Amino acid sequence: MGIQDFIALRREFHQNPELAFSETETGNRIAALLEGWGFSVTRMGGTGVVASLGNGPRAIAIRADIDALPITEATGLSFASRVPGVMHACGHDGHSAILLAAAYDLSRRPPPGRVVLIFQPAEEIGAGSLKLIQEGLFDRFPVDAVFGLHNWPGMPAGQFGFVEGPAMAAVDKVAARIVGRGGHGAEPHLANDPVVAAAQAISALQSIVSRNVDPLEMAVVTVGSIHGGEVHNVIPGAVDLSLSLRSYSPGVREVLAERVPAILHSVAHAFGAVAEVDYRRGIPSVVNSVAETRLVRQVAVDTLGADAVIEGFRPRTASEDFAHYLDHRPGSFIFVGNGDSAPLHSPEYRFDDGAIGPAAQLWVALAHRFTDPEAQAQNR
Ligand SMILES: [Zn+2]
Ligand SMILES: [Zn+2]
Repeated sequence: MGIQDFIALRREFHQNPELAFSETETGNRIAALLEGWGFSVTRMGGTGVVASLGNGPRAIAIRADIDALPITEATGLSFASRVPGVMHACGHDGHSAILLAAAYDLSRRPPPGRVVLIFQPAEEIGAGSLKLIQEGLFDRFPVDAVFGLHNWPGMPAGQFGFVEGPAMAAVDKVAARIVGRGGHGAEPHLANDPVVAAAQAISALQSIVSRNVDPLEMAVVTVGSIHGGEVHNVIPGAVDLSLSLRSYSPGVREVLAERVPAILHSVAHAFGAVAEVDYRRGIPSVVNSVAETRLVRQVAVDTLGADAVIEGFRPRTASEDFAHYLDHRPGSFIFVGNGDSAPLHSPEYRFDDGAIGPAAQLWVALAHRFTDPEAQAQNR
């Protein structure tokens, strides 16, 4: 099989997207290909596929995600989604094709150690990686490090970005309800207006980043939705807010976890209202280990040339459930350019097939270098 076959495969995945934990056909297709190439294939996480090849003192895991999003595609591409309301708008079809292209090459040119390829379901709902880990992924497939990638619009296709340390943010969600007392819009003194209390709380929340978080650290407090009331002349009984909170360091994450509920409760209280706060811990931050990040960066330079590496690439404030793997093993989550496509999760997003070749080449070279005890001894 050549690169054109993997581009065709990517487009086949694109036409047939499946949502989180429903990637049945995608998983079956991937498993059948890998079995045909001589991998030992295990199904995990329901629809996920874990494939291993080779043996040796060192083992590497490389992960791709396979799920799509509940979005109606608006690209107008000839191979656009055939499934109404479902679209590969995050490029997981591309990530899967990249890892399959690498798998094919590795099966023809086996590395000196063990390679474990993880085709993970349900990244978009932040649940797939945890499910595989809970099913014993790293006990059943012991590896020394784990790597993964995400395409990124706005970077030239086939160029790579590397970040040592925090690379993507932790994300936590808050659903809050400020409960007052409803009434006639003409008689505010007989009601207790939760709209005014909510407005004050939203303003006060802005002070967390400016006054409580170390100015040299990253934090985002976004109130993404506010709902209360139906008409102009009725004071509602309650207002609902939903927030997303992002951070890199565990310390900052704790500052947010302390300050956000404190402000919601105390501002509501100041207005004679009550806040109900449902604080949901989400995905931790993606923290890349230094040695593995330097290694994959060096392999990119050696394999694809220095021009393929973007200097000064900065961490992203989005989140990725790859973070859970890095809680258990060292490794690195890297970024590959996706040209001038619309943003990730947009109905107009387009994966750039030009990334498949270079990214697959990088995974193959990394698998060889990482599992070669002699090359590793020189690196350390
Ligand atoms: Zn996504
Ligand atoms: Zn994604």
